[in-house]
Order: sequence, then structure tokens, then C-alpha cells
Amino acid sequence: MHIFLMGVEELGKTSAAKILARAINCPNSKDGEPCNECEICKAMLEGRLTDVVEMDAASNNSVEDIRSIREEVNFLPTIAKYRVYIIDEVHMLSTGAFNALLKTLEEPPEHVKFILATTEPQKLPATILSRCQRFDFKKISEEDIVKRLKIICKDSNIEITEEALKLIAVLSEGAMRDSISILERCMQDSEGKVTEEKIKELVGIPKIEHISKITESMVEKNAEKALETIDEVIQEGKDLNNLLWEIIKYVKDILVYKATNKLDIYSKEEINKIKEISDKISKEAILKLIYNLSELENNMKWSTQKTIMFETGIIKNCIEIPNESLEQRVEKLEKQIKNGNIKIANSEKIETKPKVSIKPQEPKIQNFEVKTTSESGEYFSYWNDVINKLKSSGKIMVYTNLINTRAKQVNDTLQIEFKNGLTAFGKTVLSKPENINEISNIVNSLCGKQFKIKYIEGNINPQKENNNINLDGIDIPINIIEE
Ligand SMILES: [Zn+2]
Repeated sequence: MHIFLMGVEELGKTSAAKILARAINCPNSKDGEPCNECEICKAMLEGRLTDVVEMDAASNNSVEDIRSIREEVNFLPTIAKYRVYIIDEVHMLSTGAFNALLKTLEEPPEHVKFILATTEPQKLPATILSRCQRFDFKKISEEDIVKRLKIICKDSNIEITEEALKLIAVLSEGAMRDSISILERCMQDSEGKVTEEKIKELVGIPKIEHISKITESMVEKNAEKALETIDEVIQEGKDLNNLLWEIIKYVKDILVYKATNKLDIYSKEEINKIKEISDKISKEAILKLIYNLSELENNMKWSTQKTIMFETGIIKNCIEIPNESLEQRVEKLEKQIKNGNIKIANSEKIETKPKVSIKPQEPKIQNFEVKTTSESGEYFSYWNDVINKLKSSGKIMVYTNLINTRAKQVNDTLQIEFKNGLTAFGKTVLSKPENINEISNIVNSLCGKQFKIKYIEGNINPQKENNNINLDGIDIPINIIEE
């Protein structure tokens, strides 16, 4: 196993890497702490142990740099147990360099350990991540970043708007150092007040109009409009990786808006646009879109033909993403039912041959249970923290599916209640063992107790008295059979 450190520079990944390198090599290490006194520790502390190699991928990212590592790893260490390679900012390696290193990382000789540090673990291929023991260095909250930036701006007499501060905090993604460097960049290039617009201009963020236009095109299945807009963005010299990242964030925000009717960082006008787009697409389709776009993002990282790949990916979504939601289909059916155009077979009293039958679907997945009465138990007070933790640790799919749920403690089980049921896609996401584990681990880390996780869907009452079946709870899985 390699060791993988992720997090922001300010929190000391690099010093942690050096301590780890000593700890795995020190013959007297106690509880994972190096003694710092033996020959090996001393040599490392003084930087004269050739068995430990430090490399900053930001400045040594060529294929040649990597080739030398590839040759070296075959030599046994001189005095230490392991040859240790500390590669800082590993995501900065060029594609060629990364490919050259891939095999060594995947099948390292026994006497070799890699310690990889990065702020952007999502840029590393899964084949490498799976061979790493990962340590996350916690990020700083956006609020705290804003607070600190405010102090800096005040001390340095920098005039800055509240929106600009917020935007910098969002852009830096919890890295104080990045937020300061964005601020510095803005100061170099702008006179007077630092505003949101100036930051966007400087950081190379594509305009929000472009981002929403491309998103809208995918929802409307308008490939031509999408390509035109992409062309405009390219003409402006904006980076496609940035563009895609912004689109993904935008689509996620549409989902958040759909689920909560709330969004913080947008203007009124922008929120109207988001509302307009969100009305045309179902939650399920948004999740599918996020999934597709994230996959595209991953593929683009290692591609030499980014533009073609990007455009193809967007067109693919124009074709694949359904723009009429299940909800809307159900609404339509409901109207037809009310108008008497369709009859429903929900009891044997109806004599005519049914055209549409609606019945609760048996949940196929064992983790799910449909209940009409609720078991007694206490509501789990940490539940909102669990959901927020999922969001902040990037488990967006799990997070979005758990919005508006409650959790009840029944003996050693945590029953998560979905008042309105769940979509098939939601079930697929939530029944993945790794996601159940993730939830269970977060629960454990917050309350110190191990719970079994169970999902409860309620309250379905199939015994309706009239023929007008109420389809308010449209998330309840139903079979619609049209004949
Ligand atoms: Zn030692």
C-alpha cells in the first residue's frame, strides 16, 4: 500500500509526508512515531538520506523526471528499510509522466513506498487510489475563509464586495492558501474595488450565461445551441476543464434548488433561469446528467483531444437525457384519469378491462422496506450532521438522495425514513455497499456507535376508497402499465 495524503498545503501535508517517511523506516518507531534520534532518522532530518526522495510534481513533471524514478526503484535502499518517494502535488504530473509512472505505482517493488500528496485526489485514476491508504486533511469552511479574507483586506486597505469574498471562498474550495492567491491575483490586475465580475474575468471562469445556456441545451436536447455556445466559450479563450467543472456545479445547484427551493450564491435573475431549467427536468434525469458529466470530466483528464471529447460528451447528453420527467408523465396520466379518459383497476369492482393499472411495486432490494406504521424509537439527533458530512466529503449522489429524510434509532438499527419513497435510481445509489458503509462510518464517527442502516419507505396505503388515486407521493415506486 502507498500512502496518500490529500488536503490543503497550509495544513502541512508535506511535513506529514516527511514524518511518515521516517516512521516507516525508523527501527525504533513507537506507536507510529519515529524516534528522530537513530542514524536513519537523523540522516532523514538532515536531508542526506538518499533512500528518501522528495519530488515536487509541480516543477518536475516531465516524462524524463519520471523515467529516472522508474529506473531507481529497482535498487535496494542503502540503509533504510524502504526507498520512499514523496511526490507532492501529484496531480500536476503531465499525462505522459503519469502514464510512465502508472505501472510502477500499480506494481511497486516490495522495498518501495510512495507517499502521494495532492489537493485534487479526483484527478488521480482509480487504479492508483485503490492502492493507497488515504488520509484526508480537513478543509476550512467557506465562512472561515471569508472571515480571514476580511481581516486581510481590512489590514491591507483592500476594498472588496461581500459577493467577491464569497466567490473567492467557493473557488478556493477550503484551501486558505488558494484563496489568498486568488485575492492577490485580483489585486495585481484590478484597480479599486475587487468585485465578483473582476474575479470571474481573471480566474477564467466562463460566464454564467454560457454555463446555463449549455445546460439548458442539454435539457432541451438542442445540440446545435450547445455547440454554438461551446464555440463562443472557446473563442474567449476559456479552458474547457473549467467550463465542464462549472457546468457540473451548476447542474448540482439545479438539483439542490429542486430539492430545497433555495440557493445562496446566485442573483435573482440567475435563480429564475435555474427555476426555468429545473421545471423541464426530473431529479432522476439531473442525477443521470451529473453522473454522465463527472464521467466525462474523468475521461477528459487523460485525453489529448479535449475539445472533441467535450463536444461529443455534451451532444451525447443532448440525446440521452430525458427531458420529460416521470413526475410530468404521472401528472399527465393523473389529468387523463380525472377527465375519465383512463380507468384504473385498483379493485375488482371495476368491470371494464383496465387500460392502466397502478400498484405498489415490491422493493427488490433487501435494504429497503415499505411500511405503513412506524416503529417506536427516538429520532437520531446527528442525522443532519451526517447528511452535511456526506455533502462536504463529496458524496453528492448519496447526499442528494438523503435530503429531506429522517433517521430513527430502533435498537441497534438506524432506520432512515423516506416519507415520499425513493426513485429507482436513488435505490441503486443507496443500496451500494460502499455507500451504506460510508453512511455507517460517518454515523459512527459522530456518535461513536455502530448502527445497522436500514431504509424505510412509507406510507403507502393501497386501500383507496374512490377511483381517483392520489398521486401526490409520486416518488413511490409504481408500475404504470399502458395498454
Ligand atoms: Zn529513528
